[in-house]
Amino acid sequence: MDLAQDESLRSPDQNDGEEEESTSEQTVQGSAIPYTMIFEHMPDAFLALDMQGRITYLNHQAESFLQKTRAQLLGSSIWEAIPKIRDTPLFQNCQQAKTTGKTVSFEYRSSAVNKWFHLHIYPSEEGVCVYFQDITERKKAEERLHQSEKRFRALIENSADAISLTDANGIIAYVSPSMTRVLGYLPEERVFHHFQELAHPDDLELPKRILARVLQEPGKSQVTEYRVRHKDGTFHWLEINSMNLLDEPGVEAIVWNYRDITQRKQLEQEVAEAKEQLEVILQNVAAGITVVDANDRLIYVNDVAAHRLGFPSLAALLAAQQAGKVHRHEKFTVWDESGRPLPGSERPTAKALRGKQAKALVRDQDNATGRLYWTLVRAHPLFDAQGQVQFVVSVFTDMTEQKELEQRKDHFISMASHELKTPLTILSAFTQLLRERFEAEHRQDVMLHLSKMDDQITRLTKLVADLLDISKMQEGKLELAQEAVDMDELVREVVENLQPTTTHHLLIEGAAQRTITGDRDRLGQVLMNLLTNAIKYSPQAETVVVRVAQTRDTLTVSMQDFGIGIAQSHREKLFERFYRVYSEKDQTYPGLGIGLYIAHEIIQRHGGKMWVDSVEGKGSTFSFSLPIR
Ligand code: ADP
Repeated sequence: MDLAQDESLRSPDQNDGEEEESTSEQTVQGSAIPYTMIFEHMPDAFLALDMQGRITYLNHQAESFLQKTRAQLLGSSIWEAIPKIRDTPLFQNCQQAKTTGKTVSFEYRSSAVNKWFHLHIYPSEEGVCVYFQDITERKKAEERLHQSEKRFRALIENSADAISLTDANGIIAYVSPSMTRVLGYLPEERVFHHFQELAHPDDLELPKRILARVLQEPGKSQVTEYRVRHKDGTFHWLEINSMNLLDEPGVEAIVWNYRDITQRKQLEQEVAEAKEQLEVILQNVAAGITVVDANDRLIYVNDVAAHRLGFPSLAALLAAQQAGKVHRHEKFTVWDESGRPLPGSERPTAKALRGKQAKALVRDQDNATGRLYWTLVRAHPLFDAQGQVQFVVSVFTDMTEQKELEQRKDHFISMASHELKTPLTILSAFTQLLRERFEAEHRQDVMLHLSKMDDQITRLTKLVADLLDISKMQEGKLELAQEAVDMDELVREVVENLQPTTTHHLLIEGAAQRTITGDRDRLGQVLMNLLTNAIKYSPQAETVVVRVAQTRDTLTVSMQDFGIGIAQSHREKLFERFYRVYSEKDQTYPGLGIGLYIAHEIIQRHGGKMWVDSVEGKGSTFSFSLPIR
């Protein structure tokens, strides 16, 4: 077809009137549509060149592509009209089409219009026709696809997880390079192998099962964990995520994602072991242990606590709690150590729920069985990140046996001291009698022995009196007189009585100048106890200072010695019954550890306080204060 000859292809401006022929070729075969219609309405550029490269036809699209009008271009050589075009592959390819007589197709990007074209150059006898198919959109889509493929490839290749693709039989077709990082194998070492080959012999069932499930449920992700042999021979725990994309065009594979979870598994194992150990410990301690949440609901009890609450096991208790059948607060009637009913809000667990660590020795009775217990309850609050109480852990130690033993011991001390009191009184009366007789006979030798005997009887009597006091205090039977006591006078009297028995100088500083109400003898006993201790525990010192002072409503007496002092760790327990500071040094200081207890009790029962300040090796100051009423 010679387009240049085709009248209908002429541009309207080009009318040289030379050729008038109008053949059937001017219209599309078998129709009345002229060719120009088609070329003009084509979305792509089209032009026809003669053998010299002169433009014999160009359509509307070609005008805008070449950025020149038909008037400017028709009849002129394209290579001259647009010299730049000579340097493009168009020139070469036109030559090629002309010389070979074969259609040449190629892709070409025009920087002038920033578009991609697929060019087809059709040779003809007259020259060539050039058809520019705009493929910019396709090129962009291809580029996007290429980019995203590149990104996905980078993701897969750099991922910490290994990825493989298998067919429906589990034969590996692709392995990502990260396989080397995960299991030590090069991808090519795994391709064509069966994916389950490396599974631990004990875990073999898992990959089989997972493959079956993956095949059954296309498109659904399946996760499993099993051990896989690393190239170095060790087994690693892997989390394997698989998906059947066999029906997905372009993928047509089962995708397997392998993640090494060995560390997590080890950690899980350690946590499980630690939990098991803890559970064994919790279940085997003699104490009952409960954990309640912030709403005081039980969330854990060990067996001991479950039994105490009347259930055969933790499971039984939790089931009963679920059914709302646990009323643990109604199960026991509770008293404090001195026998007063203990309200629910004062129990250690309740206090801990309010954020305070609490401890108490309580007497509790199981309302169902009537059994009485002594229980040491210690409750610890556990806080959440906001500082709110989240849980309370309570530990119940059964002290019943210990308490009963203690009570038997107290009972024995009470009986023994009562029993000892009478013979001692008689012994003392008889020494008095003997003393009178031998004095009359001037038997100085016997008098000396009698005086030593008397000293020992006095010591023994004091000991027995102390033990009796303890029993009375224990039983709450210590009675105190309510009389006006002149403390200055009392201090002076005690010091005067004691001074002849010691080489220490007993100095009095300050004065109270006021009386207090209390039991004069008992307060004298306190002064005596503290002063004898001050002397006893400062053998190298020469002085003991007694200070008396008062404020508007309290009177304070302190006894300062310059002796051995007391280590901090002992100070808290010093006022407990039978507590002594045991150290090698103390072997030289006789005593039963009851003087301070008695003194402390007496002061407390007067509504006062007793405390100690001390520096080890430098000396101690024992003080008490009493309310002035
Ligand atoms: P004891 O009969 O053992 O002296 P106390 O109850 O009077 O019993 O004292 C208890 C313990 O306190 C003593 O064993 C001693 O270790 C310590 N103690 C008491 N007073 C003093 C003091 N002034 N200096 C050092 N230690 C003292």
